[in-house]
Amino acid sequence: MKKINGVGTKCVHSGDLIDDRFKGATSPIFPSTAYDFIDVEDDKYPRYFNTPNQLALSKKIADLENCEAALLFGSGIAAIFTSLFSFLKSEDHVIFQGSIYGGTLNLVIKEFKKFNIEYSLVDSFDIKEYEMEIKENTKIIFIESPSNPLLKVIDLQAISNLSKKNNLISIIDNTFSSPINQNPSDFGIDIIIHSATKYLGGHSDILAGALASTKSNIDKIIESSINYGGNLSEYTVWLLERSIKTLSLRVNKQNENALKVSDYLSNHEKVNAVHYPGLKTHPDYELSSKQMKGFGGMLSFELSNLEEAILFTRKIKLIKSAMSLGGVESTICSPSLTSHSKISKEERENLGIFDGLLRFSVGIEDHNDIINDLKQAFSKI
Ligand SMILES: *Cc1c(COP(=O)(O)O)cnc(C)c1O
Repeated sequence: MKKINGVGTKCVHSGDLIDDRFKGATSPIFPSTAYDFIDVEDDKYPRYFNTPNQLALSKKIADLENCEAALLFGSGIAAIFTSLFSFLKSEDHVIFQGSIYGGTLNLVIKEFKKFNIEYSLVDSFDIKEYEMEIKENTKIIFIESPSNPLLKVIDLQAISNLSKKNNLISIIDNTFSSPINQNPSDFGIDIIIHSATKYLGGHSDILAGALASTKSNIDKIIESSINYGGNLSEYTVWLLERSIKTLSLRVNKQNENALKVSDYLSNHEKVNAVHYPGLKTHPDYELSSKQMKGFGGMLSFELSNLEEAILFTRKIKLIKSAMSLGGVESTICSPSLTSHSKISKEERENLGIFDGLLRFSVGIEDHNDIINDLKQAFSKI
């Protein structure tokens, strides 16, 4: 057994499937959907989450999140849906951070009513506001940190304490941080979710999700999730394993680049504001420094208005204008036209999301090239 200490080593080696037959260096792929049922301990079947490649990658993700176990899903939303509905029943109540991923919000608003599940949305990062929403039937607190698109940070230890005190399950969408920058289980958060479509996949070519937790929570979640059927194909499991081998390298480079880019943008006369938790001027800088190991590759910055923001995204050349995030390539998008297009301008502005805001997923290119591309785009607006 290899000795695994560092996070980079975990990325490469945790959960390795050893190729005993041919002694190859990488995990073999076992795409079978049919396994022998005679004289076996458990019936293997992909939808039961127990095939060799799923178990191997789940171990890697669990190790990266300092958790006992993990499960893989066909998308981030499948992981989110499963984490919620494995524990909820009719007449329960859930507290959600208001500034969660748009797709999660949509799931809550569209589906919860059908099942008579209540919810509160808290448009604040103040723990007291969350405490005030706790009712007799509250089961879960669901948060996301840093938030999209303003990169606000919530106190993980305080949320965990509040949940424990009131016997609630705490769930975090840890997609923006990746396990390299933040391990919420270290603060006692119960369930950690990733859209693996983003940093874990990292190359903008995989749709996948994962969740990590204690063994007992995972056992409980499996009971329901084999009925929901949101599994990831073994082929994609294998590809995702390969991607995660470079996760630490990629994210550390993205952290470095984002710090340099946010510094450059902060000093630019055409930029009204820069939101990045690694900037000393960010209101949550101290809290981020306490609970994050790196500040991440996501930031946002504000130009004067929507026209200017659109023109800017037309002028960037190396950086792509694209909606997703977490890939090796730098991408920029406008929250007003994408993630927050369905809410009114007034509501957006109440949340601090102005029309000139651009969200930037910083890639792993050389930072000079990224900054030069920004420079030439600024010269044209
Ligand atoms: C993309 C994303 C999701 C949804 O993941 P899918 O893989 O698209 O289903 C959830 N949370 C966050 C923060 C995301 O960025």
